[in-house]
Amino acid sequence: MGQVRNLWSEHLEKLVAWVTEQGWEVDLRAGNTDEVNEETMKIKLNSTRSSRETICYTLLHEIGHAILFQQTDYGERFVDVVEAKQKKSYGGNKYRVGRVEEELAAWAVGLDVGKQLGIPVNLSSFNKVKSKAVMTYFKWAARANEFAYTKGPRNSSKASAKTNTDESTV
Ligand SMILES: [Zn+2]
Repeated sequence: MGQVRNLWSEHLEKLVAWVTEQGWEVDLRAGNTDEVNEETMKIKLNSTRSSRETICYTLLHEIGHAILFQQTDYGERFVDVVEAKQKKSYGGNKYRVGRVEEELAAWAVGLDVGKQLGIPVNLSSFNKVKSKAVMTYFKWAARANEFAYTKGPRNSSKASAKTNTDESTV
């Protein structure tokens, strides 16, 4: 058991080193909200998770976002997301569906990165982490009337305290 845990710590270190080489800063600490900010090139992750393996999968997802942001076709592919952010208008169906597409794409890209870097991703465990996260987006997207102006699920129910102007993406 201890050995497995240590291996995942090593995989996590490897992922952090890799993404740092790409110019991104990783801030892994207790109480952080998982997010990636393409403006500051900073990835924040909550360190208090059940396992290092789960943190690795979450980091892969955030890396997926980071890679998508940097692709030349990002603006075209996620045009409704970009436009909504520019207008700070998050109520439309196109924005919501665009965000869901972006989330799914970030999981797919993250999985590819994991494979390329030789991270021994357990697909069943990965999909469990992925599904939990994606479901929050599905629910948020489906409750358009309730949360008409929220950028994403994180900023929905609790978030009046945090009406944010940042461009981070969960
Ligand atoms: Zn995400």
